[in-house]
Amino acid sequence: MLKAIKGTARGRELLGPGGLPVVIEPLLPGDINGPFPYSFPDVPGPRRPPTRWVIRFDPDVRGPLLLLMPPKGKPQEPYEGHPLPIQMLGHELGHAETGIDDGGPNHMSNVDQNENPISSQLGLPTREAYGIGKE
Ligand SMILES: [Zn+2]
Repeated sequence: MLKAIKGTARGRELLGPGGLPVVIEPLLPGDINGPFPYSFPDVPGPRRPPTRWVIRFDPDVRGPLLLLMPPKGKPQEPYEGHPLPIQMLGHELGHAETGIDDGGPNHMSNVDQNENPISSQLGLPTREAYGIGKE
């Protein structure tokens, strides 16, 4: 799945030289984010900088219900749908490699800068809103 992301222009930028290596680990029972992925830097020791980013991720889980926009070339009407695992991985990769959070107008910073460019370059729907039913 990381390989497919690396096949996109934005994925190549994120996974190119200069960033920390990324390690994908399975989600653990009782993980803080439920079935959804999250990422964090490893902590090698006191006062040591992180050496890698860990993304905890279950490739069999689809994302939460979100407002999505069809890929280019389809009628551009927003609809409610679930992002695919590869889109959630692209989202976490954006957090990991750029350090960006889910801030910005409507919490869309990471979505706009990383997740949506990857989705679009994979020919997948893009996210129109960070969540449904919450601001
Ligand atoms: Zn996020």
